[in-house]
Amino acid sequence: MSKTLLLLPGDGIGPEVIAEARRAAQALWPDLTMLEAPFGGASLDHAGAPIAEETIAAAKSADAVLMGAVGGPQWAGVARDKRPEAGLLRLRKEMAVFANLRPALCFEALADASPLKRDLVAGLDILIVRELTGGVYFGEPRGIETLPNGERRGVDTQVYTSSEIRRIARVAFETARKRRGLVHSAEKSNVMETGLLWRQEVAALHEADYGDIRLDHILADNCAMQLVKQPKQFDVIVTDNLFGDILSDEAAMLTGSIGLLPSAALGEDGRPGLYEPVHGSAPDIAGQGVANPVAAILSLGMAFRLSLGRDALADRLEAAVRKALDAGARTRDLGGSLSTRQMGDAVLRAL
Ligand code: NAD
Repeated sequence: MSKTLLLLPGDGIGPEVIAEARRAAQALWPDLTMLEAPFGGASLDHAGAPIAEETIAAAKSADAVLMGAVGGPQWAGVARDKRPEAGLLRLRKEMAVFANLRPALCFEALADASPLKRDLVAGLDILIVRELTGGVYFGEPRGIETLPNGERRGVDTQVYTSSEIRRIARVAFETARKRRGLVHSAEKSNVMETGLLWRQEVAALHEADYGDIRLDHILADNCAMQLVKQPKQFDVIVTDNLFGDILSDEAAMLTGSIGLLPSAALGEDGRPGLYEPVHGSAPDIAGQGVANPVAAILSLGMAFRLSLGRDALADRLEAAVRKALDAGARTRDLGGSLSTRQMGDAVLRAL
């Protein structure tokens, strides 16, 4: 059956890196239908809104969406609801993507680019599964109030329901089944009620449906420590919105350059996923043709694997990136001098 991938290149280096992902997709899967629409600042300039209603409809009816990045200094002064970032939040909400998957993969050829010692990170392949639509970032009540005595008081509410916990845990277990079969569930059940509920619900789901997967519970602070002490002990880490925000950035840094890191945001089974490089629009290098396209290309690989049912193509794409890096292909962020296009060429040659 034919599949549709919606490309949203966005702003800054977004169009430059998405162009390379598009070439890789064409080479690997000539019959894939690819649509494209302006997004973020580009959409604001073009159509007066950071995302058009027809783009939202196209995203919901596609099989997967691959975006570049949005934002830039030229839109810093626009009203909050017209900002490029508002378009991205709206898209995530409309697509109901609650599971954020961020792999931290260390390519052998780049192990020396990590701030950790080579033997700790060479061959590293871990995946953080972060809950994206609940927890303290959305809980009510929230706000800052002034008390009668003049003190100011800020409140955020950490809140999770059992179904929210179980659906993200299910994503983690299912993903682990396709990897090395190990899940660490990170929370603070020692001091937080939501942490206790998290541990109980993850354990109950594990017992009911995932006896073949090894589950280890870990306190989030210890997880942060273990990530730098012995990162290769992990396979999949599942955690809430706040801890996931922090732990995924920590894990990302283990691997070297931000130009290498892909991500996926998934909703319920059968709904399209949203794929994007972890990096932003990099206004400092936009238009120069020097951005590293690997994060965008690997994001395409995640879309092949997780939304488009083409694991073999994802394997080939990842192997090609590895081969290109092994052969010495390097953009400027990796200490080399290849342009975005030349790096794309190197991956295509390896394919
Ligand atoms: P950034 O990720 O855009 O850039 C950080 C640094 O990394 C810059 O020096 C940049 O040149 C470099 N870099 C990033 N991607 C690279 C690549 N592929 N190749 C080589 N170097 C790369 O983060 P920032 O500077 O904090 O943000 C810039 C803009 O991007 C802001 O408007 C921000 O809001 C936006 N942003 C968007 C997203 C998104 O669309 N999801 C994510 C993060 C930031």
